[in-house]
Amino acid sequence: MSWLQPSRSARRWCGLLLCGAFTASAQPRPPVTFNKAFEGASLGKIEKLDDATFRLHVEGQYDERGRNRQTTWFYFRMDHVAGRELTLTFTDWVGEYNDRPGACPMGPTLRPVFSYDGETWQHTDAVAWDDVKKESTLKFKPGRDTVWLAHIPPYPHARLLKLLGEVETSPHARVEVIGKTALGRDLHLVTVTDFTRPDAAKQVVWLQARQHAWEAGTSHVMEGALRFVTSDEPVACALRERVVFKFTPMMDPDGCALGKVRFNAHGWDVNRHWDEVDLRDPRWLRLMPEIWYVKQAILVAHAEKPIALMVNMHNTETAEYLDTMVDDEPGQARLQRLFAKLVADTSFDPSRKLGIVLTPTNTTNVLWKERRVPVALMEQRVGPSAKLGRLPTVADRLAFGRQLITRMAEAALAPP
Ligand SMILES: [Zn+2]
Repeated sequence: MSWLQPSRSARRWCGLLLCGAFTASAQPRPPVTFNKAFEGASLGKIEKLDDATFRLHVEGQYDERGRNRQTTWFYFRMDHVAGRELTLTFTDWVGEYNDRPGACPMGPTLRPVFSYDGETWQHTDAVAWDDVKKESTLKFKPGRDTVWLAHIPPYPHARLLKLLGEVETSPHARVEVIGKTALGRDLHLVTVTDFTRPDAAKQVVWLQARQHAWEAGTSHVMEGALRFVTSDEPVACALRERVVFKFTPMMDPDGCALGKVRFNAHGWDVNRHWDEVDLRDPRWLRLMPEIWYVKQAILVAHAEKPIALMVNMHNTETAEYLDTMVDDEPGQARLQRLFAKLVADTSFDPSRKLGIVLTPTNTTNVLWKERRVPVALMEQRVGPSAKLGRLPTVADRLAFGRQLITRMAEAALAPP
């Protein structure tokens, strides 16, 4: 062995010494890193002001005309953060809504959610809202080295696929692929009923979620509804004997998977254009396959056996309501019954009475005008609920799903 080559033991010593010297001095911590390389994630430009202070631009999404930038979504992971006093200023919230510039979906009552495992979520403490700059600043000292942050508790596309895999094992459920999105993802229709009994004497109710990708609260409600109606609970069994439940659980899986906000992959708003989408015209199938396939499924089912009641779920910042175009007396009575039941014994906390909106619209509600499908749009706030006494949690949404689908079935079954 040459003296130039240290022995194995000398090498080991050398390593130990180096290691000891390294830890004895103040080893610099790795810098805070941001990660959005996972499903549903979204974050725009990151400005680093110091090791723990960042300005974070929300990414937003524009429609097919380059208008109506909606900014209501962020979802990302941070690493190397344990014990650091982070200051995160979220900015670039101002966008446009219905062609009116200046829309801002953030405000003083909203708080982001965080998670240490990417699965379970809780709200952060209050954020400081600057109403002049339209910026929200969160001061946050994470207890672990990795933390996920989001606008509201996320519900990624993969979670739906896992849920549908479970639902499919129920003898009372049928899961169908009714079409493909603009990017080729499956569009699902779930039917739940007691298949041993004929459908002739049953009522049909239809629940729809996630036309807008950021509105993940609607997916948690949908999951609560699906888990309940496929369960062995006596109430669920009894309802399946008398009701055919239809679910279109995620109308924009592309947007949900890619962390988009409001529009499909071609930029089209999935809750607009319902009046324009002509099922005979391949142009609409190409531009808005999500609307085309779901509209077709609804109209085919409605022609076979009329839908008694359909609810199309959405989220807003602070408002909560139910709106419809239904203008005949039995249909309105049924919706009034549903509205009253939801107010009486669920967490539904409307900011106004049932809206009968007969002015022309291009939302899914227009199916009433086109084919007498009794649709109601349900908005639920992501901000604080006076009825719940808190910001809505995932558990609140799941519980509401069960309540909503039960009340819908009861309203459909009640004698006219
Ligand atoms: Zn919406």
